[in-house]
Amino acid sequence: MSHVKKHLQWYVPAFLLGATVLIWTAVFSVEARSDALTVRVFDIGQGDGVFIETPAGVQMLIDGGPGPSILSKLGRAMPFWDRTIDVLLLSHPHADHIDGALEVLKRYAVGMVIESDVNHSIPEYGEWHDLIEKKKIPLHVAEAGEVLNLGGGIHLDIYYPNKLFVGESPKNVHDAMVVGRLVYASSSMMFMGDAEVQIEYKLLSSGLELHSDVLKTGHHGSHTSSSEDFLRAVSPKFAVISVGRKNRYGHPHQDVLDRLYSFGINVFRTDQDGDVIFKSTGDSFIPVED
Ligand SMILES: [Zn+2]
Ligand SMILES: [Zn+2]
Repeated sequence: MSHVKKHLQWYVPAFLLGATVLIWTAVFSVEARSDALTVRVFDIGQGDGVFIETPAGVQMLIDGGPGPSILSKLGRAMPFWDRTIDVLLLSHPHADHIDGALEVLKRYAVGMVIESDVNHSIPEYGEWHDLIEKKKIPLHVAEAGEVLNLGGGIHLDIYYPNKLFVGESPKNVHDAMVVGRLVYASSSMMFMGDAEVQIEYKLLSSGLELHSDVLKTGHHGSHTSSSEDFLRAVSPKFAVISVGRKNRYGHPHQDVLDRLYSFGINVFRTDQDGDVIFKSTGDSFIPVED
């Protein structure tokens, strides 16, 4: 990918200027591929794997699901010659999010990694950091208030964590979740990772704009997440639940489905609908066929 050089940079929104300074700048090679911003929530089993591609060809992956099946998903979503991913965001280091992301890190040239860098002792996470160091990939520790500019008026606003978790070992690693809201003109999509109700209430009291066209529901439709108050504030037209067929956790929980339906939200499930794809040209995200 090499036709156009674009600047991908971090900046701090106006209301925070003075509190923090410019954070990040990197240069990536991109090539126009489509007229729409495309978000693919992959049917990847019990886990999360979301691939975002901007009209200018900037590519971001949020998590990689369990095991290596993300590789064949990316193989279909990307041209065969494209072996680069601009941004790899790890919501948190649980196996159903990091295992596939590690496979991607091994096989693709990744421009930047974003994560919370929380302490969590699973071998994959050690391997993840070793590889980032070995391949000299810039690692950015996410914090609420930051905005990742993807170019063309598209940005990912970091909503959580609300403080740095580097070196910390919270009892529940979900408390250090990286939550982001993707915005393109008047369209938006919220990515909750496995965020639970406590984070939802922190977001509710943050004053941040929560309303979004699409909600990637927290924690695979578990009853730990998607509280009534939060759903009311986000008031999405569509919710997508990334969940494995016949998973041993009973996800998604029926009470969460009932809550989503009670708000009139159209619900997609990767275990029933396969890959769930949304596109936006700036007005709103709409679901499209593969
Ligand atoms: Zn998970
Ligand atoms: Zn998790």
